[in-house]
Amino acid sequence: MSSAVEILNCEAGSLLLVDEEAQELVFEVVIGPVAEQFLGERQKVGVGLAGKVAESMEPLIVNNVEQSPDWDSEPDQETGFLTRGMLVVPMHYKGKVIGVLEVINKRNRTPFTAEDQELLSAFAGQAAVAVENVRLYMQTDQELARRVEELSVMQRIDRELNTSLDTTKAMGITLEWAMRQSDSVAGLVGVIEEDGLRVMSSEGYDNEIAQYPAKVLPLDLAPVAAVIDSGLYYLSGGADLLGKSLLLDAASQLAIPIRREGEVIGVILLECMEAERYDEGTIDFLTRLSDHASIAISNAQLYSEVQRANLAKSEFVSFVSHELKTPMTSIRGYADLLAAGSVGPVNVAQNEFLSTIRFNIQRMATLVSDLADISRIEAGRLHLEFAPVVMREVVDEVVRSTQALADEKDHTIEIDFPADLPQVWGDRNRLAQILTNLARNAIKYPLEGGRITIRSRQQDNQWDPDGAPQVLHLEVIDSGIGIKEEDQAKIFQQYFRTEEGKDTASGTGLGLNITRYLVEMQGGKIWFESEFGKGTTFQFTIPLAEVEEA
Ligand code: ADP
Repeated sequence: MSSAVEILNCEAGSLLLVDEEAQELVFEVVIGPVAEQFLGERQKVGVGLAGKVAESMEPLIVNNVEQSPDWDSEPDQETGFLTRGMLVVPMHYKGKVIGVLEVINKRNRTPFTAEDQELLSAFAGQAAVAVENVRLYMQTDQELARRVEELSVMQRIDRELNTSLDTTKAMGITLEWAMRQSDSVAGLVGVIEEDGLRVMSSEGYDNEIAQYPAKVLPLDLAPVAAVIDSGLYYLSGGADLLGKSLLLDAASQLAIPIRREGEVIGVILLECMEAERYDEGTIDFLTRLSDHASIAISNAQLYSEVQRANLAKSEFVSFVSHELKTPMTSIRGYADLLAAGSVGPVNVAQNEFLSTIRFNIQRMATLVSDLADISRIEAGRLHLEFAPVVMREVVDEVVRSTQALADEKDHTIEIDFPADLPQVWGDRNRLAQILTNLARNAIKYPLEGGRITIRSRQQDNQWDPDGAPQVLHLEVIDSGIGIKEEDQAKIFQQYFRTEEGKDTASGTGLGLNITRYLVEMQGGKIWFESEFGKGTTFQFTIPLAEVEEA
């Protein structure tokens, strides 16, 4: 503006920008003796000389202002400044007038010419681009800042939602963020059930809705019905809201659906004291929030269903294994009595049958105790009794008790233990159970005439950086049927058995699952290596009883 006034050799000049909403021109820059009094002033588009130019989009030269019908100003009283001639040009941007430039009174008293007009139009063109750039920049900047903030809010919400597999908590988090971002004073999140909208979380109400979680709202409540019906949000305020608000004196109300696979499964309802508080941006945000919440809520619901099913299974398993114990003890007792000849002599054939009965009772006992262990582990009721244990003694015991089984299949068992191994810290019986399971498998799954090695070494704990620094590393090596690569990932799963395993020996698929729990509960790790058709090596670690100083 200063350059324009100077180059055109004028006494004054102004730059006015259009305020589109008010349809007014605002004096943004004023140069000259009466600048102070015009700065920030407004003028209607279409009124006065500048207003006319803004409306017509055409430049205007008035060399005798006082005679113009659009002029109604007096000379300035203080300064005596009098406008004689004026040159006004529009500032265009993309076919729209965004402002006008005007210069007043040539200093040499000559009239404004077409040449002056061309020059000022060139200035106006430059100014329009500059002003528009700043405006766009500010807009994008603000828009970008808003989006970035929303994304980071959404990310925080997602993080909170994803760590919670509890439906009520997920709804609580959703409501908290919905209210915070929309400045609401009251709100609730509910899921749609057959008999109504069950309030899962509510905030800001002191009436009966606050008595969560019992409250069920009728589905024909205006906002709920509207949202269910249309699947879109419902916004109401002012007189429209009277009697429908849950908060007596709320002025606007907004309901957003929570959808799953196109169906409305819940509603977020918000209320606030100001009319027209909820704008497009808020509604957009809440819609996105409800999409995120919907995933979290259905995850939580699915998880609690799975948990319920799993609990029912554990209870059933626990019940069955407990109930089987009594009849089994009785069968075993009577079979033992018969075998001992307590009720008369037993012939060879009878003796053979009795030993089959006793063998199978033993199998059942193992199965039942495995089932009991599984249900105890799942319920978190398996307790270990820790003490220093000499692993070599445990291994000798296990080999003694499984020797008969190994002999039957003509296997040799070799123990490879250095003489001076330190004690481990664990539960002696459970360590025996681990080794028995692994040794039994090593005996069961090889065909005839195999070789089984039980090996142990003291080692730095290279397998678990968070575990004890020093461990006993044990290996149970067999030359058996091996495990196919595609089965290896499933070996520790409950009830999993390989096809080859099923063909080779009887079993339940519970042993290794329990074994892994037992090893991990004692601070160790278990894993294996196997080559199909060649053999398998199961390995595990157990922390030493005393950490020896290096
Ligand atoms: P079970 O022996 O009662 O079937 P486990 O949990 O001990 O249950 O073992 C699961 C499955 O893993 C077995 O059925 C078998 O298919 C496979 N498996 C376990 N140990 C070995 C092994 N040493 N060699 C080959 N396969 C094995």
